[in-house]
Order: sequence, then structure tokens, then C-alpha cells
Amino acid sequence: SRIPLTVLGAGAMGTALVRAWLAAGHPVTVWNRTPARAEALAADGATVAASAAEAVAANRLVIACLLDDASVGAALDGTDLTGRDLVNLTTGTPAEGRARADWATARGARFLDGGIMAVPPMIGDADSGAYVFYSGSAALFEEHRDTLAVPAGTRFVGADAGFAALHDVALLSAMTGMFAGVMHAFALIRPEDIAPKDFAPLLVGWLGAMSGAAHQAADQLASGDYGKGVVSNLAMQVAGNATLLRTAEEQGVSAELLTPYMALMERWLAEGHGAEDTTGVVELLDLRRGTD
Ligand code: NDP
Repeated sequence: SRIPLTVLGAGAMGTALVRAWLAAGHPVTVWNRTPARAEALAADGATVAASAAEAVAANRLVIACLLDDASVGAALDGTDLTGRDLVNLTTGTPAEGRARADWATARGARFLDGGIMAVPPMIGDADSGAYVFYSGSAALFEEHRDTLAVPAGTRFVGADAGFAALHDVALLSAMTGMFAGVMHAFALIRPEDIAPKDFAPLLVGWLGAMSGAAHQAADQLASGDYGKGVVSNLAMQVAGNATLLRTAEEQGVSAELLTPYMALMERWLAEGHGAEDTTGVVELLDLRRGTD
């Protein structure tokens, strides 16, 4: 028999989670601040709770998937968390994850923070590649592992409750830089000159091929030798940047998405690292460098 659980939040993601657990045979109690969104799930077999307190009281395993950490505080304020297993799938910062863990533990609950690496249509689809980073109580994770694996894959990344958010936000940050590059490329080709639909597969292929450079950078960061196995050295890359900037100018396109990164490359070059890779930029970004 499948264990029953509570889901707080019937937004786009909460709704997808509830449907996945229901489809797998788990009895689900759902609460949402705006009742209509929870009531829509009754047709799928969910039990709708009239308040968050009632929803929390219904089951030991409680999943929260709300807008942000402040909404988790607002929803759980005044509920009795004694003996509950609280799994927070709300996106937040590492510090918010740690503070929420202390907050929940002080109220008698075990706590696991989660960072969802998926969009709602990927939830409950075993082939989608969707997974969730988890950190915090290893005992909670081990006990509920099979249930947590129903909507998406699971990756436990440590007892530090901030680590799920740190993994999540680091990946989202990398994605942000990638999208910035994609938008610059689309601006550059001018849709009237080169069809974006023809260009998109080239972009996907090139970004896929180049993303492997992350392994090389990781290797260099581990060894502290940023010149190790260098293929395209920094001096050459900075010279290449000038071509990127002149092309943007020729095309009448702002280079504002590129120039902050290029400025860091030039700084590292000016510090005498022209024969290395760009990996040293990681040091330049460290605001704590030289302060301890
Ligand atoms: P939605 O905007 O669809 O839903 C937000 C939910 O939060 C609703 O249930 C809303 O209730 C509730 N809420 C907002 N403020 C409060 C409050 N003060 N008190 C109580 N409840 C509140 O967002 P999603 O479902 O898409 O996202 C939920 C979480 O999942 C977020 O942290 C998001 O970052 C994360 N996530 C979402 C992804 C996505 O692609 N959608 C991808 C990965 C993670 P109400 O209906 O009453 O407004």
C-alpha cells in the first residue's frame, strides 16, 4: 500500500506533483491558499483540506511547493509540525533552506529541502530526465525515498539543508548565462537574414559540444593548474572577443550581454595568465578572496 501524504500548494508545480502521486496510488491531501486550485484536484481523487493546519494534521509526510520561502512561512505559521516529515520543494536560497531547517526542527519536525530540476510537464514522466536535489535529514530521505521518487528522480546532496538550493541555483545560474548567449546569437543573425528555425539546431549542437568544457574547468579547479590541458588559451580568446564585439557593431546589436564576462577575461589576462584557460575568472568572481 502506498503511503498517504499532504501537498501544500496547488500552483503549476504543486498540481503536477499531486497528479503524479495520485496516479501512482498514493492518497493525497491537498491545500491551497486559493481554494479553487485545490478543489480542481478533487476530480483526480485528492482530498481537499480547508486549512493548512488541517492538511498538516492529516499526514506525517508533508510536501510544500509554494511560491517562495516567505509563503512557506505564511502557510505553516500556526500549524502543528510535531512529528511531521516536512519536505520543502519551494525554490529558495541556501541560507533560506538552512533557516527553514532550523525553524522546522525547533517545531519538532524532520526537514528535507528540495530543488526541482524540471518544469511541470516533466513531472511524473520517468523518461523526462526530471530530478530533485535533496538535502537535510538523511533519515527522512531514506525513509521516504520510494515515495519521493514517484514524481521525479532523487539526488541526495548532503546533510547541510542549504546544499539542495545551492546545487539548484548554481545550475539555474549557468542556464541564465547560456540563455543570454542564445539571445545574443539570435539578435546577431537578424531573423530576416538567417531563419531562426534553421539556426536553432546549430545552436543546440554547438552548445552541447562546448558544454563538455565544464569537465576540463573542473579538472583545472581541482588541481589549481589552469593551464592544464589548455586547448584555446586566454590570450587567443581575448583576441577573439574583439571579433565578436566588431561583429555585434556591424550588425547593429548591443553587446551588453557579453561585455561583463569579456571584462573579467581581460582582467585575468592583464594579471599575466594569457597561456591559461579562462578558469581563473572563478577566482576573480570570489568576493571573499583576500578578505579572510
Ligand atoms: P505558481 O505561481 O503556479 O504557484 C504558486 C503557489 O504558491 C500557489 O499555490 C500560491 O497560492 C502559493 N502562494 C503564493 N504566495 C503564498 C502565500 N503568501 N501563502 C500561501 N501560499 C502562497 O508557482 P509554481 O507552482 O510553478 O511554483 C512553485 C514552486 O516550484 C516555486 O518555488 C518554483 O520556483 C518551483 N519550481 C517551479 C518550476 C516551474 O517551472 N513552474 C520549476 C522548478 C521549480 P495561490 O493559488 O493562492 O496564489
